[in-house]
Amino acid sequence: MNKIRVRFAPSPTGFPHVGNVRTALFNYLLAKNTGGSFVLRIEDTDRERYVEGSVESIVYALNLLGISPDEGYGFGGEFGPYVQSERLELYDTVAREMVKKGFAYVCDCPEERIEELRAKLREEKKNPMYDRFCRNRNIPYQGISSLKENGQVVRFAAPLEGVTSYKDYLRGTVSFKNDTIDDMVLLKRDGFPTYNFANVIDDHLMNITHVLRGEEFISSTPKHVLLYRSMGWIEPQFIHLPLILGADKKRLSKRHGSVSISDYEKDGILPEAMFNFLSLLGWSPGNNEEILSREETISKFSLEGLSKSPAVFDLKKLEWINSIYVSKLSGLDIYEKSKIFLQAEGIDTEAFDKGYCSKVFEILKTRLPKLSDSAERAKYFFQDPVEYDYTAWEKSVISVPKIDLYLERLHENIKDLTLGTKEDFERCLRDTSKSFEVKPNLLIHALRVSLTGLPAGPGLFEICEVLGVEAVSRRLSKAILKIKQHY
Ligand code: GLU
Repeated sequence: MNKIRVRFAPSPTGFPHVGNVRTALFNYLLAKNTGGSFVLRIEDTDRERYVEGSVESIVYALNLLGISPDEGYGFGGEFGPYVQSERLELYDTVAREMVKKGFAYVCDCPEERIEELRAKLREEKKNPMYDRFCRNRNIPYQGISSLKENGQVVRFAAPLEGVTSYKDYLRGTVSFKNDTIDDMVLLKRDGFPTYNFANVIDDHLMNITHVLRGEEFISSTPKHVLLYRSMGWIEPQFIHLPLILGADKKRLSKRHGSVSISDYEKDGILPEAMFNFLSLLGWSPGNNEEILSREETISKFSLEGLSKSPAVFDLKKLEWINSIYVSKLSGLDIYEKSKIFLQAEGIDTEAFDKGYCSKVFEILKTRLPKLSDSAERAKYFFQDPVEYDYTAWEKSVISVPKIDLYLERLHENIKDLTLGTKEDFERCLRDTSKSFEVKPNLLIHALRVSLTGLPAGPGLFEICEVLGVEAVSRRLSKAILKIKQHY
């Protein structure tokens, strides 16, 4: 079998969103799994929609997730150039050939005429197709650079009857009636090809064997197939990936919050977790496995594992996957990666040594769905609480009779500890509760609120051990004072 060659062919019309990157990822996975090649091609022929900086952001997103092309823009290769605006001569040659063979024709209908025609058809609830006015006028094609000055475009002479069918890997045979297929524009007035034209020529010239792309291209594919067939070229295998929906089962869009990969990075989603999460948007290894490393994903990826039903972008699942990847890192690593989020919230960690910071994140590591949560969750390790969670303070401290006495005794017991291991703190607390004949939980809750200001968090005695005897006893004194002021 020939080597599989796939491509990711983004148009630089904006910043890459989840759907684009999922497409890139699946192409990459198929290439890696089969020892094929993954090509990056920039489809920049729509000059009006060109967005400055988008090529860079596409490259950035691929790089971030380690979706590295074997060939293409920025990587070189024998089928270059890999940017469509640098391939205009190739499109010119094919257009010339198609006009010569009668598969395409030059059209000089003014844009206003086409607009009027379309508007009228739309009004009549008809398909707004070109009326083929120029199809038999035999206007000569004088090359790509003459289109502008002559006010011309080159159109495809679509078949007028019959049916065009192609095979989609996931959906089987897809058919379109030819009388619904427009005489599409191949070369525009500005001398640039349309997406349909350039895409087909390049997939052919770059020996692309499999086209994996979003479902939104299903209806463009018959046009592509007609182009392949008119030139006598072999079509690639088409695989249209299922839609990605938001949690409300509507197509994923900005309404659902962030759809840009770099926003997730800014939120503290690890690239490995994003890679894992995206790989499951429309593919499954077949055994309900959800946590897969890059290597496992590559080795298990196959077209058979693709699904044709829509995939749901579930943020909770992304955070769950991320929390698992975070929990596998060392405390120090998490600290280093979280620093930026702590700083953004004005939490200064410079006064604390690395050993301390590392211990903090060692005990928080299973509780970080996103690294950006670290500011909120780690704050009390670096600053004494200035405020206490209102409900927790009311419920677990103030409304407990004699809590000041219990905490004072606890304070007495704690302040003389020499080592301050978690066992030491636990023993002090249990001895104190025993001496008053109250349940340890009573003191546990009150101590947690006093030390952290929060109703919940990691194991209390672990927190105590990390904070150390001095900080625990200082915070406890402050809480006792506040209770006394209340009385
Ligand atoms: N340039 C197209 C896009 O960005 C590529 C579609 C395709 O893969 O054929 O959506």
